[in-house]
Amino acid sequence: MEGAIDVLVIGAGVVGAAVAQRLAAREMSCVVIDRRARTGGEITERNSGVVHAGLYYPRDSLKTRLCVRGNRLTWDWAERTGVRHARTKKLIVAADEEEAASLEALISHGVACGVPELALVSKRELAVLEPEVRGVAALCSGSTGIIDPAELTASLIASARAKGAEVAVGAEVTRIDGEGDPYTVRTTQGDVIARAVVNAAGLDADEIARRAGIDRYTIHPCRGDYYRSRRPLAVRHLVYPVKTKGAPGLGVHVVLDLEGGVSFGPDANYVKDKRDYASPPDDKRARFGESVRKLFPAVADEDLEYSMSGIRPKLRAPLETEERDFVISEDLPRFVDLVGIESPGLTSALAIAEEVERILLP
Ligand SMILES: Cc1cc2nc3c(=O)[nH]c(=O)nc-3n(C[C@H](O)[C@H](O)[C@H](O)COP(=O)(O)OP(=O)(O)OC[C@H]3O[C@@H](n4cnc5c(N)ncnc54)[C@H](O)[C@@H]3O)c2cc1C
Repeated sequence: MEGAIDVLVIGAGVVGAAVAQRLAAREMSCVVIDRRARTGGEITERNSGVVHAGLYYPRDSLKTRLCVRGNRLTWDWAERTGVRHARTKKLIVAADEEEAASLEALISHGVACGVPELALVSKRELAVLEPEVRGVAALCSGSTGIIDPAELTASLIASARAKGAEVAVGAEVTRIDGEGDPYTVRTTQGDVIARAVVNAAGLDADEIARRAGIDRYTIHPCRGDYYRSRRPLAVRHLVYPVKTKGAPGLGVHVVLDLEGGVSFGPDANYVKDKRDYASPPDDKRARFGESVRKLFPAVADEDLEYSMSGIRPKLRAPLETEERDFVISEDLPRFVDLVGIESPGLTSALAIAEEVERILLP
């Protein structure tokens, strides 16, 4: 890793992989580095795998703009490269009349944000579409579906490599010196001299920024647990509750995997440790089961088995009431921080990469 390269991307999760493939396609000499022994990321391995439509965020936010664009880019990419995916569609289910009234507002918001394929579903139609689900009405989002996050990331890394990018794993960034042109990035495998740096370090993006002297970010880890269904459930769509205003997640929902398995999750609980992946206590299952039964009354606690957890890299502190937007910021000359890339970051990765390209190659 000697000699000055055009750009060093720190982090080989889906965001770093998308950025690397985009910049390598523009003929920048590019190295992607990750402290883990392999590419694929950390948050990227522990999520719902949903390609979101972009319905939930303020109209002028990066989350909306990049999710709406990312949705199209991701489906196109998957179709072109053969990454496994399924356009399952999603139902947001109203539990009562008050929630049903809010669905119309959500459709208007989505339409204003450029989200395609939104439709209201009556109680009777819902019963036909998803007989196991309880609700009085639903919103159907036709552009939502699922993708294999590991395959998506691997395909982006492969494409970056094919265009000349180098990938270094097992190399942790420990220090960043210089104020640009170039930066000297110290790693456990030696120094990298780079004319530009992109910080795509997920849960540690605040730490990486600090190592470059930028101390304005604090990531608050917020854990979400998933429980799989032990018995087969006849469900074909992604099924979500109506989001509670101000909640740090979308609410416990159905997660479908590409093998036909059904899980529920993730809930949202702030934790101290960014790597708090220990199994939850046994008594959590009953509480989790209550959330599940709001949508699926026939699911018993015994049907649920803890499967995994993921940690959101939130910029929103535990006592704040509003969500924060993604940060995509050139905080030093040609040093781009990508911070707070929580959901819908998987969906938005290809669109985030376009933003980074615009900053570094205007
Ligand atoms: C529970 C949960 C559910 C989610 N569901 C969805 C969903 O359904 N749809 C959606 O669009 N989004 C979803 N998301 C969000 C999505 O998963 C993330 O936005 C995305 O995976 C972030 O990718 P990343 O590349 O930024 O981070 P990561 O995948 O974590 O990659 C960052 C990499 O940086 C490396 N790194 C860190 N520090 C260093 C260092 N010092 N030196 C070298 N390397 C370093 C890490 O090892 C890691 O591999 C969900 C997130 C969570 C937590």
